[in-house]
Amino acid sequence: MTVIRHLTILGSTGSVGVSTLDVVARHPDRFHVTALTANNNIDKMLEQCCRFNPRYAVMLNAAGAEELKKKICTTEINTEVLCGVESLEKVASLPEVDIVMAAIVGAAGIRPTFAAALAGKYVLLANKETLVMAGHIFMDVVKKHHATLLPIDSEHNAIFQSLPRNFTGDCAAVGVRRILLTASGGPFRQTSLAEMKHVTPKQACAHPNWVMGQKISVDSATMMNKGLELIEARWLFNATPEQIQVVIHPQSVIHSMVEYVDGSVLAQLGNPDMRTPIAHALAYPERVECGVTPLDIFKVAQLDFEIPNLTKFPCLGLAYNALEAGGSAPAILNAANEVAVESFLKSRIPFTTIPSMIKQVMQAVDHKDIFTLDDVLAADNMTREAAYEWLDTKNTDSRK
Ligand code: NAD
Ligand code: MG
Repeated sequence: MTVIRHLTILGSTGSVGVSTLDVVARHPDRFHVTALTANNNIDKMLEQCCRFNPRYAVMLNAAGAEELKKKICTTEINTEVLCGVESLEKVASLPEVDIVMAAIVGAAGIRPTFAAALAGKYVLLANKETLVMAGHIFMDVVKKHHATLLPIDSEHNAIFQSLPRNFTGDCAAVGVRRILLTASGGPFRQTSLAEMKHVTPKQACAHPNWVMGQKISVDSATMMNKGLELIEARWLFNATPEQIQVVIHPQSVIHSMVEYVDGSVLAQLGNPDMRTPIAHALAYPERVECGVTPLDIFKVAQLDFEIPNLTKFPCLGLAYNALEAGGSAPAILNAANEVAVESFLKSRIPFTTIPSMIKQVMQAVDHKDIFTLDDVLAADNMTREAAYEWLDTKNTDSRK
């Protein structure tokens, strides 16, 4: 008999959240939704509540929660509506919840993701920013509180699937020589630097292979996404930066590979659809159907691989440097990137200013050792202040 697993989905109205609910809806005998959370998309949250009747729905702000409450009163469902970061932490650590899907975007996801780990849950990690900002602190919490960490990022999920079952967090202990982290190269792989200066937010968000939220789409276009993933892989698999090779693979069919000391290279393949890693982690260690179109290898026919171009995509180099520097440097990188991406999306800076802004903000903020989540949040705050100051005083490339 299958045991029903109870779920909290943090960021249920986003791209990963919606894909998660799609998989969940296919298996009502396996999964039950206990809590859903969102920033401000009230209509989508209402629709999800009506469909899944969770015990709790959390909106970030009080005004959004009030509006959702009013709308829920006109329906048959009895979902309790909460608001605020404390409520996000509460639903991430409810005793009746087994699995927490951490799919909030950006640094906003860190506190509820920590709460889930502290409560010893199955933490399905899409929010890579948590690991980028707080790598060793988060991994220590996972270990100490006996949480189970399962990667949702397609590359890291592929690496996890290519590791042996007895993997306990240290890739060298199971004979791994290298991790080959694949990247599509994004929408501007073949665009010249001169042309990249003029790309619009719409063009940057049009990823060739994946449909995702705006922030990660821009990160993919600058290749900062691969930089963040490099740091994510370092912590998930206890790999050194030298052990992680980024490989441009434009077809996005191989989702990453693991090379062993005996020369074997294991890979996970599939159509680029987030429901595969989500289903893998939700049902782990079993397998469930999830609506993904089977891979037609004859149609794919050809797989290409290229070395990344760090001159065209300096963000990847900035991430390597931040990982090398350690301490709060990756949290500073992440916060500077979040403000730069937001500024690009609001047309305050051109696309090609994103890396130079991040670099200058990183130089303006001192990095230091970090020991607690509060240290991480302090570095995040300080960097955001420095980034907004940079925008006000040093942004000579303004589009306006
Ligand atoms: P998205 O923008 O589509 O959705 C983000 C979700 O977070 C929404 O539900 C939104 O309401 C919520 N949210 C946003 N700001 C918030 C805040 N301040 N407080 C509380 N909730 C907030 O993003 P996405 O593409 O689904 O990505 C989510 C995470 O998963 C990111 O960390 C991303 O890097 C990672 N990820 C996404 C994909 C993908 O295919 N979309 C793939 C791999 C990893
Ligand atoms: Mg990824």
